[in-house]
Amino acid sequence: MTPSQFHNAVLEWFDQHGRHNLPWQQHKTAYNTWISEIMLQQTQVKTVIPYYERFMARFPTVESLADADTDEVLHLWTGLGYYARARNLHKAAQQVAYELGGVFPDTVDGLEALPGIGRSTAGAVLSISTGKRAAILDGNVKRVLARFYALEGWPGTTANQKTLWHYAEQNTPHKRVGDYTQAMMDLGATLCTRSKPSCLLCPLQSDCEALKQGDPASYPHPKPRKAIPERKTYMLLLQNAQSHTLLQQRPPTGLWGGLWCLPQVDDLRDSDAVLGLPLDLDTIEVLEPLRHTFSHFHLDITPVRVVLNTPTDRVMEAAPSLWYNIQQPQNVGLAAPVKRLLETYARSND
Ligand code: SF4
Repeated sequence: MTPSQFHNAVLEWFDQHGRHNLPWQQHKTAYNTWISEIMLQQTQVKTVIPYYERFMARFPTVESLADADTDEVLHLWTGLGYYARARNLHKAAQQVAYELGGVFPDTVDGLEALPGIGRSTAGAVLSISTGKRAAILDGNVKRVLARFYALEGWPGTTANQKTLWHYAEQNTPHKRVGDYTQAMMDLGATLCTRSKPSCLLCPLQSDCEALKQGDPASYPHPKPRKAIPERKTYMLLLQNAQSHTLLQQRPPTGLWGGLWCLPQVDDLRDSDAVLGLPLDLDTIEVLEPLRHTFSHFHLDITPVRVVLNTPTDRVMEAAPSLWYNIQQPQNVGLAAPVKRLLETYARSND
C-alpha cells in the first residue's frame, strides 16, 4: 500500500465512520484543540467530554486560563489524573497570553517549546487548527502503525520511535491533514483497539501485516516488565470540633504537586513532628486501607481518623493548610485518593 493509498483509505473511512460531533470539533481554534488534546492524553473521549465542557465554560480563552489561580485550574482537573498536565497547561497559557500576545505559535517547533506539549500534540494542534501538514504519533496511532507494519519489539525504544515517526510522516497527506489526524486517532480508538481490533471493518485490512500473521492484538509488543515497588503510608483524617478535616498543600513540584492532601506519615509515632502534636494512639481509628497505583509504584494507604480534642490552633501549619468542609467544599485540587477518602469518611462524621 503506498502512502497515498494509505491516507486515502483512512480518509474515506473517516468520512463515513469517523467522529465529527465532538465538542472540540465545533470551533477548531488552536486553544480549543490544545485543551482537548491535553485532556485526551491517557484519557478516553467519553470521560473527557464533561471535563472539557466545564473547563471551556470557565476558561473560554487562553487569557482567562492564564489569569486563573492554579488552584482553580487543578480543581477543574480533579478526577482526570496526571496533574502535571494541568500545571503545564496553566504555564503554557501564561506564556501564550503574556509573552506571545495571545497567539499560539504556528510551527511544530514553536508549539513544542511550550510546557507540556510534545511533538505529537504539537502536530495534532497544528494540523487540526491550521491545516498545516504535521504528523502525529499518539498512543492510538502508534498501535495502528505498529500493527500495520508488524513492528518488532517495544515501540518505546529509540530506534522504534524513529521508525514509527518515519511511517507517521510518510503517510500524512498534504491535503485534509486535520481530518487525517482526527481519522487516525479515531481509527485507533474505535477499530484498532488494544485487545480486540475490529479488523473486518478496517480500511487498512488488505495490507495489514499483523492481521496477515493472524494475531494482530499481539502488537505492539509489550515493554519488558519490571516489578513495580510498593510503598506504605498513613493518611491522617484530622477532624476538628466542626468535623472539618485538615488538608495541606503539596509543594508545587513532585508527586501530587500543588494539590491538597491529607497529612501523611510513614510511622504514626512521627505525627508530632509533622503536626506539632502527639497522637493518642489509643483513641485513633484505623480505617480500611486502599491502594493507589502510580506508573512507577503502588502506594498502600492506611487512613487514620483522629478527632481532635485540643484547640486546633495548636496544629502546626508548616505547609499551607486549610480545614476542609465537605458540606461546602473549597475550590481546590485534590489528589484522587484524598478525594475518595474525604467522600467516604468526612461526611460520616458530620
Ligand atoms: S487491520 Fe486490524 S490490526 Fe490492522 S490496522 Fe486495521 S484494525 Fe488494526
